[in-house]
Amino acid sequence: MAATILDGNQISRQILSELVAEVRALTASGHRPGLAVILAGHNPASEIYVRNKVKACEQLGIHSEKLTPPDSVTTEDLLVMVRQLNARDEIDGILVQLPLPPQVDSKKVLLAVAPEKDVDGFHPVNVGNLSTQRPGLVPCTPSGVIEILRRSNIPIAGQNAVVVGRSDIVGKPVAMLLLNHNATVTVCHSKTRNLPEVCRQGDILVAAIGKAGFVTRDFIRPGAAVIDVGINKITDRKEFDKFFAGDAAREKSFAEKGSTLVGDVDPHAAEIAGAITPVPGGVGPLTIAMLMTNTIKASKQRRGSR
Ligand code: NAP
Repeated sequence: MAATILDGNQISRQILSELVAEVRALTASGHRPGLAVILAGHNPASEIYVRNKVKACEQLGIHSEKLTPPDSVTTEDLLVMVRQLNARDEIDGILVQLPLPPQVDSKKVLLAVAPEKDVDGFHPVNVGNLSTQRPGLVPCTPSGVIEILRRSNIPIAGQNAVVVGRSDIVGKPVAMLLLNHNATVTVCHSKTRNLPEVCRQGDILVAAIGKAGFVTRDFIRPGAAVIDVGINKITDRKEFDKFFAGDAAREKSFAEKGSTLVGDVDPHAAEIAGAITPVPGGVGPLTIAMLMTNTIKASKQRRGSR
């Protein structure tokens, strides 16, 4: 039987609709939540991401500011900018869009963001809060993974969860969240032996690798919930055919754009999985919904009303 498709767009819309009332209530009490985004230099992908984040703020009624220092910005310039935002009471969340220009010390800039305004959840204080189960701000894409499972009624507690990828941004926080939700968690990476065999232990399999269609059918336990975090652009016809031959809708958009997006999971895995997130339209839309959630959470936590 074909897998249930876990519709991230629909889950994201549901979350955003729940947030509208919260923003309204906070605004009415004189504390309209505010998000500042720093977009340094020109990076077409980052510009699209930031545009979508600002748009989501506008839809919810969250105050947003976009700061756009030039490509030549220095670490010191960005530190000054972050410190000024840290000091402004009407700004609850600060997001430094990555990647920063190569001359900038990104770690130093991220470390300067006040932990209580760190809506990306990357600051070591928030990493520590997550691993010790204290209140804090949790990275957006990983918490989106949990929301998809939770809102799709896929059990986590007691399940075997396998995470492929151990980045600070996705793999590690996803693994920590699954552990905090009482899954038995295995984290895999490029040095893991017998990867397909290890993955087949997963009732839940999360792929965050950055390699198009890397997780194939033989990695999947029949009936498993497969969460595909990967976003990879493919332009090669042969690669397209490998993943999407016979898919008329994809064929049309590939012909129009000359490219399409594929996750880290081969779409044919849907023939084995019990449930699976599509790419696009799976984890991606949750990232923005969780950023909005974090901005509101930061606003409430800073004002002592959780
Ligand atoms: P990353 O920092 O490059 O980390 C990739 C991880 O995959 C590493 O831990 C690496 O292992 C592991 N890996 C690489 N090759 C492997 C192999 N052959 N076998 C097993 N593990 C392997 O990537 P990331 O930032 O976590 O992103 C992962 C994917 O998620 C990317 O496609 C990215 O575009 C996507 N993403 C999506 C969203 C969203 O909103 N949906 C957000 C963020 C990222 P080592 O540690 O051993 O090198």
